[in-house]
Amino acid sequence: MLYKKILEVFRKNKICPFCRRNKKLIILENKTAYLTPAQAPYTKDHLLIIPKRHVLELIRLGKKEKENILDLILHGMKILKKKYPSVLIEYKEGSLKNAGKSIPHLHFHLIPKLKNALDIKITSDRRKFLSDKELIIEVNKLKKS
Ligand SMILES: [Zn+2]
Repeated sequence: MLYKKILEVFRKNKICPFCRRNKKLIILENKTAYLTPAQAPYTKDHLLIIPKRHVLELIRLGKKEKENILDLILHGMKILKKKYPSVLIEYKEGSLKNAGKSIPHLHFHLIPKLKNALDIKITSDRRKFLSDKELIIEVNKLKKS
């Protein structure tokens, strides 16, 4: 399914996909945040780090919550650095519209970068939304790596 279609469904029904994450899609979690593959990935092995609390901006998080996010960023990078020469960390600060976020719940992206592939991002119009079933296979692979 196309990501932009599912986004319309989320908006219409006021669903936050990051608050209702299927536990089976979590690679690693701590008390306040979790690491999960992106369901509408830019690239293969695109990971997200998401606080469990529904907040939009980093300033709303407490010290421990920020530390827990950093721990998971480091864990995700460790996984990706085994397979890829470099990893891009992306975070958009600001309101949905101004920052160009698609989900109103803050998240950090870890995007693996292949050698000689400077721009391998899929444009938002073509981003696919993967099913939980497809994603669980990826989670199990990533947990083992
Ligand atoms: Zn949320």
